Amino acid sequence: MKAETKERLIGKARGKKAPGRSERSPAERSRVVTRAPVTSVAFVLIIAFASVSFVAFAQRPRPGSQRNVALTSHSRDSLTPEAREMMELASVVVCKERTKDPKGSVPIDDMQGRPSLPVRSPEAIAGAKRAQRLLPIARGLVVTSLKRLANDYGFRNPKGDDPRLQHAIARVEAVRNIRPDVDSRDNASVLLKNPHTIVFGTIFLAGLPSDEGIVSVLAHELVHIADGTEDSLNLLFRAVGNRASKLTGLKVHDQRAEELTCDLMGMLAARSYVLTAPSYEPLARRLSRSMEHNCVDQDEGDDDHLSPRNTIRALLALNPTLSRELVYGH
Ligand SMILES: [Zn+2]
Repeated sequence: MKAETKERLIGKARGKKAPGRSERSPAERSRVVTRAPVTSVAFVLIIAFASVSFVAFAQRPRPGSQRNVALTSHSRDSLTPEAREMMELASVVVCKERTKDPKGSVPIDDMQGRPSLPVRSPEAIAGAKRAQRLLPIARGLVVTSLKRLANDYGFRNPKGDDPRLQHAIARVEAVRNIRPDVDSRDNASVLLKNPHTIVFGTIFLAGLPSDEGIVSVLAHELVHIADGTEDSLNLLFRAVGNRASKLTGLKVHDQRAEELTCDLMGMLAARSYVLTAPSYEPLARRLSRSMEHNCVDQDEGDDDHLSPRNTIRALLALNPTLSRELVYGH
């Protein structure tokens, strides 16, 4: 991918089209998609910035997308029946917790159908303040988790610190600002020519009323920034994607691998946040908040994203410890 024209939709999920939404623009079709929510107004932004580097959290349906893809078990390294059952149980817990949680995230297909939300609305103001407050925490958690993932997936140079990782970490540490934006709706995005700011759609801000939900999205975006125009983390994305593919039987390659790695980091960062900031809320409820925006009714994926519900399954397959914590509550 050419550095100067790199464009990404960093989807947190996708869902049904908003009423009256137009067909995808040529600019949209040409985008390289990561994973998150995106809407028609964001397309205008994308056209406007077609000549610059653009990274956006986006969620959208795609024609010909997978629907209710069954997880197969033919791979040699696939989950054992017991591990698969634990994963499925945990995914049920995630979406059940969402419905009981006063701070539960709005599913992304629901977000996509909502009317625009002014920047000065109380929900958007509260969300922007939360995101700005949590940004330094998310940066630290991403750096720690990135080092851990690099070790776990053999990305790190065994002779010492890998310069690719060092550059990625430096980019994460340079992110300073959150900019709430009406037109970004249910997306978050980053312009690579301005990699110090995460643009956060006001619907997205309002749809994630918990610290854990915001931390997971910030971490997702920070990984795209870490990868940067140099694709520094490409080999890590590939390793995570290959492992997820083997475990689940789903195809998690190319951009799907990057998006899943970003979501994996979001989940890991949120889990670390939960463990370092105790509260009286149940553990399973807090952990669920990093993934529950994927509890959609219309479960569609595309070439660049697993479907939202398969994203939850893949994340849990990669993290049996988290599955157990969700199921047993400790
Ligand atoms: Zn993404």
